[in-house]
Amino acid sequence: MDTKYFSIVGYSGSGKTYLIKNIIKYLTKKGYKVCVIKSMHHPGFGIDIKGKDTAIYGEAGATLISYIAPESSGIIYRAENVRSKIFKIVEKEVDFVILEGIKDMNFIPQIALINEIDDLDIFINNNTVGVYSHKIDLKDHELYIEFEKIPGIVEKLAYPHIPLLNCQKCGYKSCAEFYNHFLKGDVKLEKCVARDVDDVFLYVNEKNIALNRFAANLLKNILVGCIETLKLPAKSISDIQLEIKF
Ligand code: SF4
Repeated sequence: MDTKYFSIVGYSGSGKTYLIKNIIKYLTKKGYKVCVIKSMHHPGFGIDIKGKDTAIYGEAGATLISYIAPESSGIIYRAENVRSKIFKIVEKEVDFVILEGIKDMNFIPQIALINEIDDLDIFINNNTVGVYSHKIDLKDHELYIEFEKIPGIVEKLAYPHIPLLNCQKCGYKSCAEFYNHFLKGDVKLEKCVARDVDDVFLYVNEKNIALNRFAANLLKNILVGCIETLKLPAKSISDIQLEIKF
């Protein structure tokens, strides 16, 4: 299945972690694989702690540092603007991605967790499908949703990802605009030309440039044709990277 996205928003203390834990339990019990992507706003945040090997390798210039441990492993990107790369990785692995606190993707369906009444204006947007609070009574609010029903709503309403390249090739000014029209039923998901290209990626100055299927095939065929002339052992090629410096 296409990886689907859903967003949980709300200030600290609103119960996001507890809710997301419940959503994960619900979805995994049904056999789905789940990823949570959490935005960290603290400057300097990182799991490669200064003085430890991972930080030393990063400071020396490594772009990626990976650690492998018996119970969990990880990849640390020492670069900016890697979000679309991370999405590409997780989309190969999971059925659902729960976003926590990623503000500029507010076109993804979301549930807002509310601490106080003023939060309603701050967090509700066109794609808010529900509000809940464990601090104030919201039962009369038109978007109020019972806590126990939220995981089922996530399963039902989460939407397939679009690559967020803002390339305008769909005719809309941004992915957010495209997505809003998709939710209204004005445009089909297939109009996003970058969605079906998951085997060829072009980065210019580290920015992922959207390729349509034709351009992706063209690049792929040219490169594979060149490499075939090198007469490398059959089946030895699984991944090709080309870097061009100006
Ligand atoms: S074609 Fe896809 S990636 Fe490009 S702007 Fe439209 S929705 Fe975004």
